[in-house]
Amino acid sequence: DLWTAKGALDFDDVRFAYHEDRVILPDFELHIPAGQTVALVGSTGAGKSTLAKLVARFYDPTDGVVRLDGVDLRDVHPKDLRRAIVMVTQEAYLFSGTVADNIALGKPGATLDEIRAAAHAVGADTFIEALPQGYDTDVNKRGGRVSAGQRQLLSFARAFLADPAVLILDEATASLDIPSERLVQEGLTTLLADRTAIVIAHRLSTVAIADRVLVMEHGRIVEDGTPAEL
Ligand code: ATP
Ligand code: MG
Repeated sequence: DLWTAKGALDFDDVRFAYHEDRVILPDFELHIPAGQTVALVGSTGAGKSTLAKLVARFYDPTDGVVRLDGVDLRDVHPKDLRRAIVMVTQEAYLFSGTVADNIALGKPGATLDEIRAAAHAVGADTFIEALPQGYDTDVNKRGGRVSAGQRQLLSFARAFLADPAVLILDEATASLDIPSERLVQEGLTTLLADRTAIVIAHRLSTVAIADRVLVMEHGRIVEDGTPAEL
């Protein structure tokens, strides 16, 4: 039986160090209610990606507990965890294969209808349908080359199809032209709806659509408020 997470996250007395001699998160406390969109900002090396990696369980805390709906992540079955928590990284990796294959990675065995629906939801359908072979276009072949903005839209479609309770997104820094920027922003807004999200935000427009903004410095939260407050 699959367990369906609601998406509440808790960091209880979390301490984390990659190497014992250098603590990255000295004592981290945080509650994120299910459904909240959190924008995480702070200078380079503050520990934003480290925090994200603890949620995605790339690492476990050195001390303390990270919980999903009150359950220690270490006690969640890996299969349930993979379904519940999805991390989208800056590079928005594309694998060899067709556009459809790349979106389907979000949900093994997805039908073409589901793939199209996900692409449509995040606004990736227009450019895909303009490609030489549409959804069957090989992303590595001539004519199948996709721009930075289009790559982001494909990664959003993949994540939308996966439909996790918790989405972690390390926002891409690539600068986009204004129309692409608008498309990516709209796709992101759709992707973030109805789930818990932690977005390591590089765009002011992303901070603006968050429910809550956390500013991190040296492994600690130094500000916690709404975009309007900060
Ligand atoms: P940026 O904005 O540059 O992405 P960040 O806030 O995401 O920064 P982290 O990547 O979490 O910061 O890094 C926090 C600290 O941990 C940094 O001092 C970094 O050098 C260190 N660090 C990150 N990854 C590792 C690792 N795999 N092994 C050892 N130290 C690491
Ligand atoms: Mg980072």
